[in-house]
Amino acid sequence: MSPRVLFLLLPLTLAAADNAPQPRVVTPGARGAAPSDAVAVFNGKEMTGWLNKAGQPAGCTVHAGVMTCTSGVGDIHTAEKFQSAQIHLEFNIPHMPEQKGQLRGNSGVYLHGKYELQILDSFENPTYAHGSLGGLYGQAPPLVNAARKPGEWQSYDITFTAPECDALGKVVKKAVVTAYVNGILVHRGVEINASEKLGGGCEAGPLLLQDHSGFPGAPVTSMQFRRIWWRPL
Ligand code: MG
Repeated sequence: MSPRVLFLLLPLTLAAADNAPQPRVVTPGARGAAPSDAVAVFNGKEMTGWLNKAGQPAGCTVHAGVMTCTSGVGDIHTAEKFQSAQIHLEFNIPHMPEQKGQLRGNSGVYLHGKYELQILDSFENPTYAHGSLGGLYGQAPPLVNAARKPGEWQSYDITFTAPECDALGKVVKKAVVTAYVNGILVHRGVEINASEKLGGGCEAGPLLLQDHSGFPGAPVTSMQFRRIWWRPL
């Protein structure tokens, strides 16, 4: 295309951009609260909508808007499933100075029940990089260590773009994760490898929270969670 034609087309291009539809209005929540179109995945009152591995009601306790899950309750997951979503959750890791590495307060948030974003007390607690707070476990270390001290509330904000499959159910486009810990970018458009072990596939899946007590030597831990919501995309 000649520079002259480009010059003539430029105003048209700009005009088209001006006609793009207005972004939908979403009202931000009050400080710390969910935005207007979020789905509350944890209602802050009881464990409605959360199940254990056996499909029974999850055994965590709820008090004053906070879910407490102590070792032994097992992994818990949402009854509801999602494909692609923006996800927010807040967590509070207990202070366990007598422990080191992966044996400090350890949980995890599993996207589609299979891809773990690590929850670990990573404040002055070195371990292998992909297993530290913000790590995409087994796949990618976080860009930075954004950990607050144990006992302080921390947050995850995650954008999960579900994988795409062909007619035979084979992944043709990998899932992609962008994530922030405490508002700090830890993954920027990272592609997730869907191994056979993880089941592959493109089905919708739940949000799962890990009980780390099944791992060798893991001490009794009480993890706290609050303000868990998602916005399906
Ligand atoms: Mg974990």
